[in-house]
Amino acid sequence: MAGMVSLFRGQRDVARARLVLPALLIAVLIIAVMAGCAAAEDGGGADPFPLSDEIMADADGYLILVNTENLLTSTDKPADLVNVSARKTSSTAIQMREPVSLALSALFDAAKEDGLTLYIHSGYRSYQTQRDMFALRMERLGYDDKMVQRAGASDHQTGMGADVINKALIGQRFGESFGGTKEGLWLAERCAEFGFVIRYPKDKVGVTGIEYEPWHLRYVGLEAARYMTDAGVTLEELWEQWEAYQAGEWVGAYSPGAAGSIEPFIVDDGELIIGE
Ligand SMILES: [Zn+2]
Repeated sequence: MAGMVSLFRGQRDVARARLVLPALLIAVLIIAVMAGCAAAEDGGGADPFPLSDEIMADADGYLILVNTENLLTSTDKPADLVNVSARKTSSTAIQMREPVSLALSALFDAAKEDGLTLYIHSGYRSYQTQRDMFALRMERLGYDDKMVQRAGASDHQTGMGADVINKALIGQRFGESFGGTKEGLWLAERCAEFGFVIRYPKDKVGVTGIEYEPWHLRYVGLEAARYMTDAGVTLEELWEQWEAYQAGEWVGAYSPGAAGSIEPFIVDDGELIIGE
């Protein structure tokens, strides 16, 4: 307001004001432009989503979310199931989607290099198998203890969920103590390098609705596995975040962390390319 008053003091002041005013105006404009740029950089959901649109479009179906609220149907069956060649807990054939089977073999090989022997106990399960398993469990217990999912709700029906254990657990009841074994710890630390995540983490029981299962790996692809592991995000949360992003409510809280050092392998047309 002081500047306004001075304008009425006399001719000399007016002349000076003629010089000062444009300078002030330019300064104000510069500040406004700078402020505008800063606002565009850190606000308004302008941060990119940590996974590309292409990955989130999920053409390969690697990110499919299956739980009690997102059920598969009795006819949902992956078209690319193969018998896994990774070491099994019994001679019974186990099927998984082909890229997942390759990734699993690479994972087992890497564990072997570190002196650890892993076994796959369970892979793809059909809707019908899951229905029978659930019925049997209910018959035996008389109630749903949530350890066996009902038909359509199992991650195993995707052909991308695998129960991976060590020798000591063969024939035993699986428990969360597996997470503290050498093999369990190794899986938690290294599985993302091969496109897998621990599907039901210990601190996410409230999100997944399923008890901690350190043996249940789920293939989601390399980039998603890296992000989900690094950020501590479940599949449920990934899709929630994506919805928020689509709605313009993404806050961009994620910044690349420790998992940035991962050197993943890539399954490309059925071939393994290590270190890309
Ligand atoms: Zn499982």
